[in-house]
Amino acid sequence: MPEIVPNPWRLQAQAQQVRSDTVIGILALQGSFWEHEAMLLRLGVGVREVRLPEHLDGLAGLIIPGGESTTMGKLAVEFGLMEPLRAFGREKAMWGTCAGAIFLSKDARRDQPLLGLMNITVERNAFGRQVASFEADIPVPALKVVAPDDERPFHAIFIRAPLIETVEPPAEVLARLPDGRIVAAQQGRLLATSFHPELTDDDRFHRYFLHLAQRAPAAA
Ligand code: GLN
Repeated sequence: MPEIVPNPWRLQAQAQQVRSDTVIGILALQGSFWEHEAMLLRLGVGVREVRLPEHLDGLAGLIIPGGESTTMGKLAVEFGLMEPLRAFGREKAMWGTCAGAIFLSKDARRDQPLLGLMNITVERNAFGRQVASFEADIPVPALKVVAPDDERPFHAIFIRAPLIETVEPPAEVLARLPDGRIVAAQQGRLLATSFHPELTDDDRFHRYFLHLAQRAPAAA
């Protein structure tokens, strides 16, 4: 039997102290949820893994991680999460990274369960097989809200990423690649990014999400 090696992110995260009453959920049906957990714990907020509808109770926001969006959608249907997730997203902050962004969209041109909460359409695996993964530095002006003195572009990591093809009001474009293609969008307290901020050391996106989760709903 191979030895089970403890996940270093998880150990590091568990060692952190929770300094706030805010609890953020991470949909943990499938995909890369540990890295989000570690980032949030580093920021001093409570984290709960969400697998059943009752796990949503009392959360200030929910992150839907990267993974495989068809599998994630099928599991969400099986666990009775589709309507509870839609109801949650109409009231509270929700952020989808990569597969999570696909799951939040209203159309991915495939037959798969989608939450349809954001007025965006996506093209899955839009960057093709050979260049399925790449990294790019992109400006994200909205991050100034949480980091006014930080002029750096955001280092975005794309892993078999979707492209956000259309963004219609009330959704707005948050970031583009240098060639103009859209890779992040926001609609009130809902966020979609095609890339993975949880795989970097830069916590500005997570702080931006916390800012959305903690502000009064009327301001959304
Ligand atoms: N390619 C995956 C999908 O289409 C998303 C990849 C990811 O989340 N890193 O669902």
